Amino acid sequence: MSHRVEIAETQQVFMVAPGESVLDAALRCGVSLAHECTFGGCGTCRMRVVEGSVSYEDFPMGLTEEEHAEGFALACQARPDGDLVISTARGTETLVPARRATATVQSIAQLGPDVLHLRLALPADEPFEYAPGQYLKVLLGDGSHRSFSMASAPNGNIVDFHVRQIANGRFTSQQLPQLQAGDQLDVELPHGNFSLRKDDYRPLLMVATGTGLAPIKSMLESLMDDPDCPPVWLYWGMRSAADLYLHDEIVRWSERLYDFQYVPVLSRADADWHGRRGYVHDAVAADLGDLSEHAIYLCGSPNMIHDAKQAFMVLGAQAPFIYSDGFTFQHAEH
Ligand SMILES: Cc1cc2nc3c(=O)[nH]c(=O)nc-3n(C[C@H](O)[C@H](O)[C@H](O)COP(=O)(O)OP(=O)(O)OC[C@H]3O[C@@H](n4cnc5c(N)ncnc54)[C@H](O)[C@@H]3O)c2cc1C
Repeated sequence: MSHRVEIAETQQVFMVAPGESVLDAALRCGVSLAHECTFGGCGTCRMRVVEGSVSYEDFPMGLTEEEHAEGFALACQARPDGDLVISTARGTETLVPARRATATVQSIAQLGPDVLHLRLALPADEPFEYAPGQYLKVLLGDGSHRSFSMASAPNGNIVDFHVRQIANGRFTSQQLPQLQAGDQLDVELPHGNFSLRKDDYRPLLMVATGTGLAPIKSMLESLMDDPDCPPVWLYWGMRSAADLYLHDEIVRWSERLYDFQYVPVLSRADADWHGRRGYVHDAVAADLGDLSEHAIYLCGSPNMIHDAKQAFMVLGAQAPFIYSDGFTFQHAEH
């Protein structure tokens, strides 16, 4: 039996066929819902079930049982149990439609042992808007794409990226290192609903692993020198001190953010490291305790995001104020 789904904010209605996911049905019917990995890993398609309920064949990694109990769902995996009213408000409020463009490589430089700094110039004559936290797709020409978060706040047509080189990765290890200034890339932007919600008016807890720092850097740059900037805690998880590819720059952010605490946390530090050790979410739990007042932004490894959500909700974190972007990979889907 098919089920009717209505989007509360837009009153758009579509039917979900038996066995179909909410996302697949929406796309089949021409209804735009934010999504990325489509296997329940990244959390981009998070929605709130306002009326009705949904089930999963396999409970998705990008959602916790607590979020499910609070009415959140991942559209790419959710199957309606009956008719639904869903809300995508927190997911769509900053979205502008994605457009394609030919970007020009400005520079590529080594930032850390396995991280490249890529600077792209977008066409200057047709300005692109994006919300800090969103990402861009590099189009590889065969219908597949690779996603990378903007690592700089919007500033003219120049955009920075932090690209972790994946061993044998088709784009990050084979194609990108061959590119030179002046080369062109086909891109599409902006994508994603991971963005700074200034109207939360809550202290910010930002937790990143690896290049998950990139969208958080973009968000924090947009808050620099802002007298309304809330207190910010940034926890950055890496393996070793050599991996902390932006450490010195982050330390300097305290000069331009009103109340900024930065805590690097290393999981495989050597004896010379005198800072925090272990998993990044454990360090947050040990330091902050009660998280009921925070807006929480999680970005990077899907495992960290999953574990952090579970740990933080025990500490009072409010599901509507937890935003996340899991860096899943795209090769399997295309
Ligand atoms: C919304 C979003 C935003 C992202 N933003 C960034 C960003 O700002 N910076 C960044 O460095 N990455 C980011 N990623 C991850 C990035 O898209 C992938 O690392 C990239 O697609 C790898 O492409 P590739 O062609 O080099 O590897 P592929 O050729 O696609 O993969 C090669 C092999 O490496 C493994 N692999 C691929 N990607 C990953 C990964 N991320 N983690 C672990 N194993 C992997 C797979 O097993 C695969 O078989 C983001 C992902 C998403 C979904």
